[in-house]
Amino acid sequence: VTESERADVLVVGLGAMGSAVTLRLAERGLRVIGIDRLEPPHDQGSTHGQTRITRLAVGEGAEYVPFVRRAHELWREIEASTGISVFEEVGGLVIGDPDDGFLQRTRAVATLHGVAHRNLSTSDLESRYPMFDVPAGTEAYLEPEAGYVRPEAAITAQLRLARDAGAVLRMNDRIRSWTATTNGVTARTTATTLEADVLVLCAGSWITKLVPESAPMFAIHPQTLHWFEIRRGYEELRRMPIFVWEMGGDGDPFSHLTSGFYGFPAIDGPGGGVKLATEHYDTTVDPDDRAAGDGVGEQTAVAMYARYLARYFPWVSEQSVRTVSCLYTCTRGSRFVIDRHTRHPNVWLVSPCSGHGFKHSPAIGEAVAQSIADGGSKIDLSPFALGAGLDR
Ligand SMILES: Cc1cc2nc3c(=O)[nH]c(=O)nc-3n(C[C@H](O)[C@H](O)[C@H](O)COP(=O)(O)OP(=O)(O)OC[C@H]3O[C@@H](n4cnc5c(N)ncnc54)[C@H](O)[C@@H]3O)c2cc1C
Repeated sequence: VTESERADVLVVGLGAMGSAVTLRLAERGLRVIGIDRLEPPHDQGSTHGQTRITRLAVGEGAEYVPFVRRAHELWREIEASTGISVFEEVGGLVIGDPDDGFLQRTRAVATLHGVAHRNLSTSDLESRYPMFDVPAGTEAYLEPEAGYVRPEAAITAQLRLARDAGAVLRMNDRIRSWTATTNGVTARTTATTLEADVLVLCAGSWITKLVPESAPMFAIHPQTLHWFEIRRGYEELRRMPIFVWEMGGDGDPFSHLTSGFYGFPAIDGPGGGVKLATEHYDTTVDPDDRAAGDGVGEQTAVAMYARYLARYFPWVSEQSVRTVSCLYTCTRGSRFVIDRHTRHPNVWLVSPCSGHGFKHSPAIGEAVAQSIADGGSKIDLSPFALGAGLDR
């Protein structure tokens, strides 16, 4: 193989996770090849659709907080070195009944980690955020440092910095197969053969195609994002924080019974609508058969409007001005997987992030790069281990 086909580390997939891993490895002076079957940012995986929520008090679990805290620092560094704006600290609300499990966990994590916040009563919510029609008894957690990140801009910025730091980026080439021995890894692409000491698989929803023995661990759930037409209150909608409104279920944020919706401020002008979404776990798809997941069942704009918006968010109409579909790669319990392959210590699985990974991605990239370069990371990766392991 030629110089451009041999590296210290080969990173497969240059989405949220892969672009961060590639950048942080290249920055440390390692020779890195990053490869993607498409040309990120693109709209075929999990990292598109304009905005992603970020919040420091991660109700999904206190073990994620070091990642997101570090991520907020890294977004600012990335912005300073590229001039690309990535992170908007517009504040964030978690809304729910006082006994809602996610709201309670969010408050507990904020207290544990000293995250600045305020608790809002129903009347606080009504007076400060009139776009919500809140039932009596509804409360909220308000985190001023929360906000949203632009996923496409974040990938563009990290790939630019990675290239500047010396990484070789191969776009529109796909890993078809790989083998690993104690001496290193060999990967066959559609165009060539690549060799490296370490292989990092950041393939998102395609992970089971590259690691078939992992298939029982992951489920690919298609999700739909809608931008609903603004009926009134554009100025207030433009200035509002991001929000997550939990509506019951059984109190487990990862349960299929969980219901509610989340949304973002109106950032596309009065005609651009408000991006609002629900989460769905009732359908699975093959990532190569995206059409199968488009607007399925309850995920249509009409169904979402009827179930939530007509009653709780009446400043938008039932008209969707834009619709985008996207993939969640979920594990049981919606955990992350950031670990070495059980049989191949020089192969990492990094990314099936169960629909809440973006906010952590630059810090995950940094921690994986530290683990590979230094043999250990500042942030503990053990909560994200493979668990039962993989046979191959
Ligand atoms: C609708 C939606 C809303 C979300 N909201 C939030 C949120 O508000 N906050 C939050 O923190 N997270 C959120 N997430 C989750 C977050 O976006 C994901 O966890 C994250 O983007 C996943 O990134 P990834 O790098 O794992 O996958 P991707 O970005 O999909 O990257 C995988 C890449 O691998 C490439 N690839 C695959 N196979 C091969 C191969 N064989 N050879 C070469 N390349 C290959 C693909 O082309 C792709 O570019 C949301 C996700 C969705 C879908």
